[in-house]
Amino acid sequence: TANTTLLRVEDLSAWYGAAHILFGVSLDVRRGEVVALMGRNGAGKTTTLKSIMGLMSKWKGKVEFMGQTISGKQPFEIARAGLGFVPEDRRVFTDLTVTENLEVGRQPPRTWPDGSPAHTWKPEDLYTLFPNLGAMQDRPGGQMSGGEQQMLTVARTMMGNPFLVLLDEPSEGVAPVIVEQMAHMILALKEQGVSILLSEQNVHFAELVSDRAYVLEKGQIRYTGSMAELAENEEVRRAYLTV
Ligand code: ATP
Repeated sequence: TANTTLLRVEDLSAWYGAAHILFGVSLDVRRGEVVALMGRNGAGKTTTLKSIMGLMSKWKGKVEFMGQTISGKQPFEIARAGLGFVPEDRRVFTDLTVTENLEVGRQPPRTWPDGSPAHTWKPEDLYTLFPNLGAMQDRPGGQMSGGEQQMLTVARTMMGNPFLVLLDEPSEGVAPVIVEQMAHMILALKEQGVSILLSEQNVHFAELVSDRAYVLEKGQIRYTGSMAELAENEEVRRAYLTV
């Protein structure tokens, strides 16, 4: 059902060794939302996503996904529960074609807790939704640009039929034309009802695709509001974001 909270992060702290990086981060994502986790370089966006995925060894706090506590679980258990993750390093299998890369990501169909079936993604659906990818279906991953590989990793994650997708910096280090395609890709997924939490420092990009935003600075949430409110808030943008 709409308005259901999919992800709830409560008072999350995290460390790399002795370096304290996150200080009590709380946020939530509801079904059907695209939420941006914003902030400058080093603010802690990636660390927050890694903590949610169970990839930090030193942490404190609580993460609930679809009503279940996932903090303390192994990354593969969290992925299996239906939380998709597209990390920053966007690895594709260079010797496999686009279609073969997608097949690697295929998981069995899922059912929402209310009994309704979740979308079961097939390569053809993804090619229809993302024609740019469809045009490259027989191309080896190694012969794609960084941005195209990024699009492929997003599509491959969809093959796992996730209930929620975490996307780390989709626009980073990507050519402007691909940034635009990536924005279209996220909006197309949103139209299909896909829920997304993305980390992003590109304000323009986040404004294009997101409903709401959280702004991180030095490992703390400094602001939260609708994307429209953030767009109007010069003070917050100047203080915590690169415009
Ligand atoms: P970016 O845009 O650079 O990815 P970010 O907001 O995602 O920024 P994080 O990657 O979460 O920021 O980094 C937060 C802080 O943690 C930074 O000060 C960074 O230097 C530090 N950090 C990140 N990874 C490690 C690591 N493996 N070991 C030690 N410190 C790290």
